[in-house]
Amino acid sequence: MTEPSATAVRQEELNPYRIAQLQFDLAARYIPDLKKGLIEFLKRPARTLTIEFPIQTERGNVRNFVGYRVLHNNVRGPGKGGIRYHPDVTADEVRALASWMTWKCAVVDVPFGGAKGGIVCNPKRLTQADLRRITRRFISDLGDQIGPHTDVPAPDVNTNADTMAWIYDTYHVMHQGEDNLPVVTGKPLDIGGSLGRREATARGCLFSAECALARGLVPDVDQLDGATVVIQGFGNAGSIAAELFAEQGAKIIAVSDTGGAVLNRRGIKPAKAIAHKQATGSVVGLRGTKEIADEELLALECDILIPAALENQIRGDNADRVRARLIVEAANGPTTPVADEILAENGVVVLPDILANAGGVTVSYYEWVQNLEHQQWDLEEVNAKLRRKMERATDAVIDERERVNGGLSELNSKVKGAKSKTTLGLVSLRTAAFILAIRRVANVALERGIWP
Ligand code: NAD
Repeated sequence: MTEPSATAVRQEELNPYRIAQLQFDLAARYIPDLKKGLIEFLKRPARTLTIEFPIQTERGNVRNFVGYRVLHNNVRGPGKGGIRYHPDVTADEVRALASWMTWKCAVVDVPFGGAKGGIVCNPKRLTQADLRRITRRFISDLGDQIGPHTDVPAPDVNTNADTMAWIYDTYHVMHQGEDNLPVVTGKPLDIGGSLGRREATARGCLFSAECALARGLVPDVDQLDGATVVIQGFGNAGSIAAELFAEQGAKIIAVSDTGGAVLNRRGIKPAKAIAHKQATGSVVGLRGTKEIADEELLALECDILIPAALENQIRGDNADRVRARLIVEAANGPTTPVADEILAENGVVVLPDILANAGGVTVSYYEWVQNLEHQQWDLEEVNAKLRRKMERATDAVIDERERVNGGLSELNSKVKGAKSKTTLGLVSLRTAAFILAIRRVANVALERGIWP
């Protein structure tokens, strides 16, 4: 028996915020002691800020933009989460991403809450100068809604170390004479950035995947050496995952970006793909590869599929075609709840986003600590700490799944006693990760006591 059905609605739910809430609900049923009011508090964002602002573009026009910053929960520490620049950003997407940050920080056990930001814009159609103006104006309008001890942004889709430098500079201009480096992470190395932060999301995926394989989660695949890998999305997370997985002996057979997808069953050299993308703007046209449809890429026979683009890529309408043995979610929210059920039925193991891509926020936490302490750690130290965190978190999620699934009959008699009509089924790694995270956040909320 798999998890409780998420397919009650015929039309698949693709609103990321409602998906995040559904994932929460699926998990919360396994924590019967959780009080109703506490559930509502944990599920909903503490605040959603909408900022509408103009900039004067490089060409002299006035253009208006909408940006969001959501603080989902700060019970375990300051809000933490990236800022995304994309034409499809919505308030609900940012709410979902912020809530996943709360659970991710709890799974990996870093002392942050969850937050996220986004600006509705198409960076491909904006100049560097316009992006800088957009960033500065957004951060200045946010004012004291962000801060080193309240809410700390970071990079996400279409933002990078340059963007983080502008964020730091803008905040610093507004708070001169203060120690402002910890207000944002993912900064350039010479402005307080951490060694290893650029690679951290992908390296975290690597450590988590290695740990899961070593624990025997995927029959007949117990190491990366010789494993075949397909990667959707070739930006920060995806391209660096290609490099790191290949370094461990895996064969990258297909990659994609917004320009399209390419395949070479004999193996793609990540450095060549990165150089080609830098030169042409896309992986398409890489020598020795054949162009395939993006849907075909998701359906390729391989050991590991790494979605590293956006939400809702593996859905009810295509999950059945996935031939991977293991999915490592570098992206946030790439798999819908309906797809989760289909994958579970087909024996595809999913290392969920709130575990697999937590390396990014983990090294962001290390950057924040280094900034607070005026230190710079060696790369070896950062990576060793990251490995320990990722292995501990991966073990904790796998153990949680075993604990919950092993205690199901007792749990079912307990919830039956509470007049529940449904029988709880076996949980996936995603639901186990949520259960672990919700328990950790709820414990702290109750230990601190609800104010006043
Ligand atoms: P990025 O902007 O560096 O790269 C995104 C890549 O995805 C680009 O190559 C783009 O062309 C590609 N892409 C977009 N839509 C696509 C599609 N439909 N099909 C194929 N490719 C597509 O962004 P990133 O920082 O690498 O983020 C990617 C994902 O990883 C996001 O879900 C993000 O939230 C998540 N993530 C990022 C970090 C981080 O530290 N950067 C941390 C955790 C999670």
